Amino acid sequence: MAKKHTELFRNSIPMIASENLLSPLARELMVTDLHNRYAEGLPGERYYQGNEFVDLIELKVQELAKKLFRANYADVRPVSGTNANMGVLFALTKPGDMITVPGVAAGAHISSAKFGAVGLRGLQPIEYPFDVEEMNLDIDGTIKVIKEVRPKLALFGQSVYLFPTPLKEFRDAFEEVGSHVWYDAAHVAGLIAGGKFQDPLREGVEVMTMSTHKTLPGPQHGMIVANPRDEKTERKLIYGVFPGVLSNHHLNAMAALGVALAEHIQFGERYAEQIVRNSKALGQALYERGFKVLAEKKGFTESHTLVVDVREHGGGKFAAEALEEAYIIVNKNLLPWDDVNTALDPSGLRLGTQELTRIGMKENDMQDVAEFMKRVVIDKEDPKKVGEDVKAFKEDFQAIHYCFKEGTRMYDYEELVDL
Ligand SMILES: *Cc1c(COP(=O)(O)O)cnc(C)c1O
Repeated sequence: MAKKHTELFRNSIPMIASENLLSPLARELMVTDLHNRYAEGLPGERYYQGNEFVDLIELKVQELAKKLFRANYADVRPVSGTNANMGVLFALTKPGDMITVPGVAAGAHISSAKFGAVGLRGLQPIEYPFDVEEMNLDIDGTIKVIKEVRPKLALFGQSVYLFPTPLKEFRDAFEEVGSHVWYDAAHVAGLIAGGKFQDPLREGVEVMTMSTHKTLPGPQHGMIVANPRDEKTERKLIYGVFPGVLSNHHLNAMAALGVALAEHIQFGERYAEQIVRNSKALGQALYERGFKVLAEKKGFTESHTLVVDVREHGGGKFAAEALEEAYIIVNKNLLPWDDVNTALDPSGLRLGTQELTRIGMKENDMQDVAEFMKRVVIDKEDPKKVGEDVKAFKEDFQAIHYCFKEGTRMYDYEELVDL
């Protein structure tokens, strides 16, 4: 099955907006002895012996993170984005506190919902209003919510992300209220670090969390970077992560993250720029073929993500499943006006171009991708037949780019052990 899975992705056009490919050097570090070890606490203050070089690695990865995000503080221990978020919630709130969050319609992540980590911490989340025309938070409404709720912590950042959050417009409001301002950059960390999209730490944000495997193409791990307002806040953040929400921090992934950060320092700007170009090109190409791509008037997107309304073509469930049969991997997604109860058959699709960019696709390749999608979703051609063409097209995109050892082929699946 593991072989089959690898073969599937070798043949597919992968467009899940939260996924990416590990570079060859980062992948090597994932299977070193680091994987077998434990390290709890901070470099120089460990609970176990054997951590001499782990400490040096951790300090190095911290330095790379601070450099890439121009931050005073970095914690590279969280084992996922959600884990990083839980660390911040543990550090900066107490049960019963108010927190303001992007809403479900805005494409919020489960960790900021009542039924996710925010609820687990016993917090009361209050949602900002969403402006469907702009596909962004409603500016006046959000300012009003911050001023009225006076939250201990104000969270920004979503999982469906077309345009930068207007943080500068909110800045006066959260400075007046004195909230800690937290930006969840899980999806857009690689764009931010590449100098695209926005720069939250320069726009009034104190703490930024992220997954390190979406547009930042590292190992599945998490990270916090921050400019804490004082030493007390910094200490709270440190203890929020450990002992707050983890013990060991997956040392192989932490080391691989160091490689990904070093690579992004060198290649990130070019990579981020091409991602955004590709998503705009894909938006335009789909639109020209009759797809209802959201935010057409605003150029479809400023990020790696596109959202497409496919209700008239059979709905999100039909489209996503038919595309999967044609080796095109996307996810169905709620649109802002969908009822939450229709999550299993929503009106939309969410597409991401970060992985296509990573394997070397450029704007003109987006025409081919759009055409394959049209044949399946609009023309209702036999997906199996389209799939054969997709497989042939994918033959030319088997190497990883924007990394050291650029051009290394990604999968040698014939040699894999199987499960
Ligand atoms: C993906 C995501 C996360 C964290 O995901 P993990 O799978 O735990 O790394 C957190 N917040 C947002 C907005 C996300 O999209």
